[in-house]
Amino acid sequence: MTLISPPLELLPNTSPLIGDRRPTDSSAGMHKHRYAATGQVTSQVPMAGKPEMDAAVAAARAAQPSWAAMPVTERRRLLMRLADLIEADADRLTNLGTIDNGTPQQIVQSAPSLTAELFRYNAGWTDRIEGSVIPTWPGDALDYAVEKPFGVVAIIIPWNGPLIACGMTGAPALAAGNTVVIKPPELAPYSALRIGELALEAGIPPGVLNVVPAGPVGGDALVRNPGVDKIHFTGSGATARIVLSAALETLTPVGLELGGKSANIVFEDTDISTALPTMMSGIIALSGQGCINGTRLLVQDRIYDEVVEAAGRFITQVPIGDPYDGSTAIGPVVNDTACQRILGMITRATEDGARVISGGERLNGDYADGYFVAPTILADVPSDSYIAQNEVFGPVLSILRFSDETEAVKIANDTEFGLAAYIQTNDLKRAHRVADRLDVGNVWINGFNGIPVSAPFGGNKHSGHGRLGGKWGIREFTRPRNIWVSL
Ligand code: NAD
Repeated sequence: MTLISPPLELLPNTSPLIGDRRPTDSSAGMHKHRYAATGQVTSQVPMAGKPEMDAAVAAARAAQPSWAAMPVTERRRLLMRLADLIEADADRLTNLGTIDNGTPQQIVQSAPSLTAELFRYNAGWTDRIEGSVIPTWPGDALDYAVEKPFGVVAIIIPWNGPLIACGMTGAPALAAGNTVVIKPPELAPYSALRIGELALEAGIPPGVLNVVPAGPVGGDALVRNPGVDKIHFTGSGATARIVLSAALETLTPVGLELGGKSANIVFEDTDISTALPTMMSGIIALSGQGCINGTRLLVQDRIYDEVVEAAGRFITQVPIGDPYDGSTAIGPVVNDTACQRILGMITRATEDGARVISGGERLNGDYADGYFVAPTILADVPSDSYIAQNEVFGPVLSILRFSDETEAVKIANDTEFGLAAYIQTNDLKRAHRVADRLDVGNVWINGFNGIPVSAPFGGNKHSGHGRLGGKWGIREFTRPRNIWVSL
């Protein structure tokens, strides 16, 4: 069996989009981007360094005053128009999503409509960003606070969901009157570049939305540029630390959306067959490469063996393989380095006492040239072991045992992360009680159906701070100015 080749004729221009220019220079070299399912080179992508980042920030700076001063009805119309174009371009964007990082078509096909929705929702905020009138004393004064955009926002996004990341961060930043430089990584440059092209097509003025693919060299140049008023970083804690120390020089504020090690707590009153899809979503969603995946399955004693057995059976039914096969739910991981890291973590887990229920190896045969790790279930994982404490970012589910509610909450909170958690129970009071005690930004009870664009999203502890989504996303990209008028 040969894997289906991706339609590379759909790739956008791979040069950075700076204003309305597509300079072909790449001071940080060219990146040979590979299709994760086959290892095939898809194109050579110019990597931006300091000169390109400086040009992008200058373009964003030049465009910002008039973007912020534009009548809000016009800014809203342009963002709505972009949403329409994203929807009209859904087939191409779905393909680019797969080419970017190997996400199966069946999974990534929902990304364009969600991204369009993020732009549409945030467009609706343009005339709703209100200020406050502040009481004054002893009087004879008017004091009011207005919400202002930061100016130029550098948006650094990860490779695992670049399209949605553009919507989550770019849409509120633009709606609030900022201009942006979006930096997608070398591993997934295409969807973000296409969003930049569609923004120009929508009539958004050049320089308002710049897209500049780069690796660490360009990322560092962007972060250190004094023309950047705010940095929004989505990625790993390790890179966040580098970004934060670079931002120390300019004292630029940094918003952080980082990793997770989310618990999925299964209480003994749960209907196992109903809850299984949610229990297994931690290993399936984005082939295990999602920040919010419930990768630690905490199961109560009495149903522990039954759940372990059911999980082992369930995973054999989940189609893994060619991202272009419409039935595929689990595809490759992003690259060879990821394969090595994931397999290394599985080996270490077994040395720490975990029992392999399924998987544990790289897929060979037809899949040998791609980056496929068999979906892996580990049982009896000690809570203090390396795999229970660190992000795997691959299709690996760790099952842990607990005896009562207090212990479940303790284990769930016992990592440095605090992004998300899941609860499976038929006891309504317990569901709310436990949700209240989890030190995380997002909790899903009895099912995972995504998150509304109007809800807050983000993490606690080492999972970041600040929130995207809803009014919280707008707040992330505005700051108040207080104005006192003596009367
Ligand atoms: P990463 O930290 O390796 O890279 C993130 C971004 O930082 C990329 O664009 C990368 O090119 C850039 N970068 C690298 N070095 C830089 C530097 N010196 N200066 C500036 N930028 C630099 O993360 P990744 O592997 O792309 O993504 C996976 C991580 O992202 C996981 O930890 C995952 O949980 C997290 N993530 C979090 C969320 C969320 O919303 N909380 C969403 C998706 C992914």
